[in-house]
Amino acid sequence: MSQEIQDSLLLFREIYPEIVEFLEEKKTPKFRIKQIQHAIFKEYITQFSQITTLPKHLREELDEKFNLETFTLIEAHKTSEITKMLFKTFDGQFVECVIIFHNDNRRTLCVSSQIFCAVGCKFCATGATTFKRSLTTKEMVEQLVFAQRYLKNNFEEEVTNIVFMGMGEPLLNFNVVKIALQVYNSQDYFGIGARHITVSTSGVLPKLKEFIQMQEQFRLAISLHAPNNELRSEIMPINRRYPLNDLMAMCDEYVALKNKRVSYEYVLINGINDSLNHAKELVDLMQHRLAHVNLLMYNEHEFSDYTRPKYDTVMNFFNYLKSRGIEVSLRKSMGKDSESACGQLSGHAQKEKDKKNAQQMERSTQAVISY
Ligand code: SF4
Repeated sequence: MSQEIQDSLLLFREIYPEIVEFLEEKKTPKFRIKQIQHAIFKEYITQFSQITTLPKHLREELDEKFNLETFTLIEAHKTSEITKMLFKTFDGQFVECVIIFHNDNRRTLCVSSQIFCAVGCKFCATGATTFKRSLTTKEMVEQLVFAQRYLKNNFEEEVTNIVFMGMGEPLLNFNVVKIALQVYNSQDYFGIGARHITVSTSGVLPKLKEFIQMQEQFRLAISLHAPNNELRSEIMPINRRYPLNDLMAMCDEYVALKNKRVSYEYVLINGINDSLNHAKELVDLMQHRLAHVNLLMYNEHEFSDYTRPKYDTVMNFFNYLKSRGIEVSLRKSMGKDSESACGQLSGHAQKEKDKKNAQQMERSTQAVISY
């Protein structure tokens, strides 16, 4: 067996160890795994019975023993620009991912890596709800399988780009994210080019170093959101542990190694980080760096008191950066009306669940009292 096939099977084992174990126990030839792999990652099947290349008895046995999918789709919010999907996991948690429909025909899937987030950035809906757990490799894979199936069945299209900008800090689940990156990228699996896959991080430096050293040319985005150390520590607590200077040094290392620019995400928040002074500081920070600044207008949500800046303030900020030669774009907030801030749908679903649990607890407490 060639090294390439062996590596490919190793990846399959990482995602579905129980299936591989079962097939090995039955002494099923290795090419059967390749057939299953092809059916899942190229045809997006939902059940083993759909793999007509497998013997009927094997399909039946597999369907009897294993669920291919652990997610249940709870709801999908659709606008002309995005489709946001909310899933319930096997253990009753909520996860969301978003497909973004760009005008130039790109279809970007924004994936989640954790269920809520422990980093606790002050402006973020995901960080405002208690962190539950990290996603498994299978759950990382399922987000893309669902998205591919949805695009294929409804539009005869496919996901062209991936960004890790959904719920969670991907580098705090890096052992799993590392495998997911390979599965998204490998030609035997989803086959999405590394240059079309972006990992966005708030700056978990030890893991960022590991990410930078991966051999593939994955792209890097930094959740920056403040142009100086003091303000960043105030709105993003992780900065107290991994300060801005060290983060920028690591980004410089990425540029030196990969010869690729870094994207810096900067959400403009009214009265917090949107003044002309902040813009000047940001210019100083970006000067002489291979960088692109993505400005976003803050999306108000019920989990924070921060507000959206006025349009003029945003344009002044944007124009100032541009006039100083910074590569900058003003990203449209996708679907302001459709709960598009990451973690909002899940936040609501979690709130509903907590409410139901509280009511149930109250009922059982009353039952105990009356008993
Ligand atoms: S912005 Fe990212 S890192 Fe910060 S709390 Fe939200 S999900 Fe976590």
